[in-house]
Amino acid sequence: MRSSRGPIVAIDGVAGSGKSTTARRVASELGLRYLDTGAMYRAATVSVLRKLGKAGISDPSGADDKEITGVVAESDIEISKDGRVSLNGEDITDEIRGSSATEWVSKVSAVQGVRDLLVPLQRELSTEGAVVEGRDIGTVVFPSADVKIFLTADLSERARRRAVERGESSVDDVGRRLEARDKKDSKRDVSPLEPATDALIIDTTDMSIEEVVGRVIAQCAKAGVTGE
Ligand code: C5P
Repeated sequence: MRSSRGPIVAIDGVAGSGKSTTARRVASELGLRYLDTGAMYRAATVSVLRKLGKAGISDPSGADDKEITGVVAESDIEISKDGRVSLNGEDITDEIRGSSATEWVSKVSAVQGVRDLLVPLQRELSTEGAVVEGRDIGTVVFPSADVKIFLTADLSERARRRAVERGESSVDDVGRRLEARDKKDSKRDVSPLEPATDALIIDTTDMSIEEVVGRVIAQCAKAGVTGE
């Protein structure tokens, strides 16, 4: 039996597998909120970089978990229904996609104290039902989600898609960065990137976005999540 919350569609997966586009479209088709939890970890990272990065060098590598958690605890991170992200009232929607946030997010998100702060916020933002995108949504944040999807795709295809999306010329460089981030996210002790045992795994390598969305919507329909 579902609790007092609305329906939850969990969409986890590796970087560049099509999670964001799929989650956004599924949310719109089902009339549910779209919640990008990666954006929240990225906002926490921007906060850590600003506070702990040494002058001019955005490198918090010397910071310990307690310091990192302390900074995030004092940060006011907000994510609006239309996906704008703010930190202490400042819009940082573009900054969270920058190279330093992307480089350091796996370190910040591996800190248990940071997750202990952000996971309750993710649950609160989803009380009316949501399509929630991340790495640990089906395993940790919503282990009883109505629908659990895990998206994968070949590394070369993910790198190609990401390079096109970000306008980067070296697909190989993009691929190396994606692979390194996936490795860090999968190997960490806390909430590692892995499919829930009851997730539907979809390999999107040879699929169009419409096909992926169709598969997810069909899975939602099976679970009685129809958006009506
Ligand atoms: O989804 P996106 O690529 O923006 O996520 C950025 C990073 O945030 C991931 O590489 C991962 O380190 C972290 N993340 C996480 N748990 C989530 C969502 C994202 O640890 N639920």
